[in-house]
Amino acid sequence: MGVKIRLGHLVKDYLDDTVILADGSVIPAKTLIRTAGVTGMTFAGLEPDDYGKGKRLFVDPFNRLYRYSNIYVIGDTCITTADPGFPYGHPQLAQVAMQQGSRLAKNLLLINNGEKPAPFIYKDKGSMAIISRNKAVADLPGTVRNLDGFVAWLAWIFVHLMSLINIRNKLTTFLNWLQAYFTKDQPLRMIVKPGKAASHGE
Ligand SMILES: Cc1cc2nc3c(=O)[nH]c(=O)nc-3n(C[C@H](O)[C@H](O)[C@H](O)COP(=O)(O)OP(=O)(O)OC[C@H]3O[C@@H](n4cnc5c(N)ncnc54)[C@H](O)[C@@H]3O)c2cc1C
Repeated sequence: MGVKIRLGHLVKDYLDDTVILADGSVIPAKTLIRTAGVTGMTFAGLEPDDYGKGKRLFVDPFNRLYRYSNIYVIGDTCITTADPGFPYGHPQLAQVAMQQGSRLAKNLLLINNGEKPAPFIYKDKGSMAIISRNKAVADLPGTVRNLDGFVAWLAWIFVHLMSLINIRNKLTTFLNWLQAYFTKDQPLRMIVKPGKAASHGE
């Protein structure tokens, strides 16, 4: 689709319609879109070494904050190096947060009953990204490794519809998507420019 990806290049500056990279090379560009990751917030009372990359809180295999017996952290705000499959921590994805939530709920019940909790092990169900109309990519575990194009796009729609809670949400979203597909009207992607404020008497 004409997209060129240059990994491992640090942007140093953007000047006079030119992106300047750390190695001195340049990319002429009238438009520059900068994206950045998320960073957690810090809390008074916790030590600096309670935090890892991106200010995510370091937790043990049971999502418990190290050195504390009664503070648990799940989702984007935590990081653990205890899962053998993810030695640098889990990706900040909805699946991780959901699976951690489910594991922690079960563990709290186990602890409450005087039983041993189970460590959190992330089950990677794969990744998908929608690219455009009729185009997506999917990287799935198991025998079907990679999908792309229209098949991946259908798979993306199916998986995301199925992930919504209750039939009503699934149906409403499906009808909204159907309408957007045929009318090509995407109200959620509207770019709103600030206009002139109307003066009194107009
Ligand atoms: C633009 C974008 C696109 C993404 N796309 C994907 C994707 O395609 N697939 C995917 O798997 N993941 C995606 N993610 C990541 C995914 O959204 C997160 O990994 C996931 O939501 C983490 O869940 P969480 O419960 O940890 O945090 P969140 O879902 O962020 O929930 C935290 C909640 O806490 C609330 N909160 C914060 N501070 C306070 C406070 N002081 N008091 C009370 N409430 C508070 C927030 O309002 C929020 O509702 C995307 C994230 C972003 C930003």
